Amino acid sequence: MTIVMEPTRTAGPPYRLASSGPQQSERTVLEIGGRKLGGEHFALIAGPCTVESREQTLTTAHAVRDAGATLFRGGAYKPRTSPYAFQGLGREGLRLLAEAKEQTGLPIVTELMDVRDLEPVLDVADVIQIGSRNMQNYSLLTEVGRCRAPVLLKRGLSATIQELLMAAEYILKEGNEAVILCERGIRTFDCDHRRSTLDLMAIPILKQLTHLPVIVDPSHAAGRRDLVLPLSLAAAAAGADGIIVEVHPRPEEAICDGPQQLVAAEFAGYVQRLRAAVAIAGKSLGSEPPSGALSAGDGG
Ligand code: PEP
Ligand code: MN
Repeated sequence: MTIVMEPTRTAGPPYRLASSGPQQSERTVLEIGGRKLGGEHFALIAGPCTVESREQTLTTAHAVRDAGATLFRGGAYKPRTSPYAFQGLGREGLRLLAEAKEQTGLPIVTELMDVRDLEPVLDVADVIQIGSRNMQNYSLLTEVGRCRAPVLLKRGLSATIQELLMAAEYILKEGNEAVILCERGIRTFDCDHRRSTLDLMAIPILKQLTHLPVIVDPSHAAGRRDLVLPLSLAAAAAGADGIIVEVHPRPEEAICDGPQQLVAAEFAGYVQRLRAAVAIAGKSLGSEPPSGALSAGDGG
């Protein structure tokens, strides 16, 4: 019997392309319609849960743009727990998002649920959102991996960090390098008083494991408007590269997710508080130059 010694393969992480290993030691910084996301650039993606009407969409888009948001969000196709609930305006919703972009200049983030809607979504979206429920829809991930538009990939409700990175790998493997990871709350034993548990630890852990930008959705994590600011501040301080947050002109009338949407008229105050936390983390929100660590005299 002859024993042949084969060189052992160094076991790197299975998410080969997402890994921040020696092959990719630099952080991925995306430029989306002139707005940077990643590195020292903090992105603020704001807008309604769903596109409901022209007035609601355009009012929100102007309010968040004027307050300092860098991208506009809004769902035209909505993943709803109940098949009887409002499913989104579909093509009409996409048309309204295009109008919001034309009027405000804000790049659009919108969800793709079905690969059959890829073309119309791509016509409008600057960033394609893959929702938490579809994080492991591998055929959908493969299809968006074949396009050039950046993909915002939300963590599944019960997905581990490794499963999130493997899902990102499906997109990267097809040649699309523009993937943004999003922590949006996970399911734990405790769902008293909140919708889910925001996994803040996922931020620094992901930043160690991957070069991809990591953002946080405090709205879906909390399900409550009053928790959105504290969670946003914590996420920014923990090193997130951005926030995606829901905003509505009249949340009490919202068709979907009313209790968690911030009031559009109060959004500027939220942004002001968020900016301070972003600065503490050495990043800048929007076009302002990075302010770095607070210097003496900034404390007043
Ligand atoms: C959304 O952002 O519109 C949404 C449905 O979020 P999630 O997929 O995280 O539930
Ligand atoms: Mn929502």
